[in-house]
Amino acid sequence: MITVMKFGGTSVGSAEAIERVANIIINTKGEKVVVASAMSGITNFLVGIVENPPSDMDSIVEQFANKHLMAAEEMFDDNTMAEFRKDFDLRLKSFRKAIMSDPNDAYYQDLVTSQGERFSTLILSHYLRMLGHDSVALTAETAGIAAVGLPLSGSADLQATANGMTMKVRPLLSRGIIPIITGFYGIKDGAPLTFGRGGSDYSAAVVANAIDADMLEIWTDVDGFMTSDPRIIKDAIKIDEMTFGEAAELAYFGAKVLHPRTIEPVRIKHIPLKVRNSFRPEEPGTLIHNLRKKGNGLLKSVATKNDLAIITVSSAEIAYRPELVASIIGKIAENSIIIYSISTSLSTIAMLVSNSDVMSVIKKLNELGSDIERIDVKNNVSLVCCVGDDLLSKCGVTGDIFTAVKEAGVNVEMISEGASEVSLNFVVPMGMVMDVVAVLHSKYIGE
Ligand code: ASP
Ligand code: MG
Repeated sequence: MITVMKFGGTSVGSAEAIERVANIIINTKGEKVVVASAMSGITNFLVGIVENPPSDMDSIVEQFANKHLMAAEEMFDDNTMAEFRKDFDLRLKSFRKAIMSDPNDAYYQDLVTSQGERFSTLILSHYLRMLGHDSVALTAETAGIAAVGLPLSGSADLQATANGMTMKVRPLLSRGIIPIITGFYGIKDGAPLTFGRGGSDYSAAVVANAIDADMLEIWTDVDGFMTSDPRIIKDAIKIDEMTFGEAAELAYFGAKVLHPRTIEPVRIKHIPLKVRNSFRPEEPGTLIHNLRKKGNGLLKSVATKNDLAIITVSSAEIAYRPELVASIIGKIAENSIIIYSISTSLSTIAMLVSNSDVMSVIKKLNELGSDIERIDVKNNVSLVCCVGDDLLSKCGVTGDIFTAVKEAGVNVEMISEGASEVSLNFVVPMGMVMDVVAVLHSKYIGE
């Protein structure tokens, strides 16, 4: 039985948190592979270096080193500290080299922001050793995590990673060694390429895929997926089990429990996934897998995404001009902007994007010149994402949901149904979103 366990930034954010995590690892039976994020706050600190290059790099190195050394000193005995310092000093030397390297290199930001994981994993590994458990700290380089893609938005090369890990990680497991691997990035052409912010969850899923794990556990600071945002809905409860599809939709459209890209690498190999709380390890968390347990309620969860805008582009008979539709989407894609939903009519195409992306979308669309007759923007809308098992195959679900929305006295601005089997999404004014969620939650959520 191989379990891949991933610990996020807050779970390794302090000496106390790391000690808790070490106990969780030790108490897990069978072979274990650990993936960890940087200590909380560290990646933001590194992003700061790239965005506002400081004049005094020495003091940056010192601040960065101190944050990790302080945690280590709190945890380690003298022997462990001495052993740790050897590895630490080597990695700190590479860190200094990384931040001083050419800032014009396209992958400079990936190189700098991926440094934090190298230190959190080192502390955890040495601590396990101090407790008498054989462990090694591996980096994406030494574990063989291969990446492809553009700066700051890499994806794993699953096949190459499987080959690398079979050679580099599997032999450790059979010798009873616990590998602690850096999350967040893989290696492309010999240099780090990050998987996007929050990408360590994805790294862990990639590792689980690559070594054919029996279980992936994502240890974070919440109990699991909830029926709704507990800050909005007081009686929101934790969901015990859900399917891969449901979890993927929820993670993408609102619930910040899991990075949305975590699902795919484990889903394709039918590896079950658990979301667990490292601060409350006695809680069983949410189990995400293939099995279907039918709930009684119509919906499993209602999530929301705020601060969105609808951009409506009008042009005569746009529906008969697929090349224009393609160039509209193409223009927006040039800035890597995410379109959360699209809906078309004879002469309009409406797209849902972040409020903060509106200006750059309009700038891009203006490049299309007179092909476009009009652009309208409706700011400050929210997406409501209703997720439930086989939602689309249940008769009358849409009617029930919108009857509830009407009860809340809210006008629906945009609807997306049919794109996914398990979710129905619609857009309402941001000021009304809490009322909608409250009505849906009280009427249709049930275990
Ligand atoms: N440390 C990285 C970040 O903060 C990756 C992760 O935490 O998943 O984005
Ligand atoms: Mg982090």
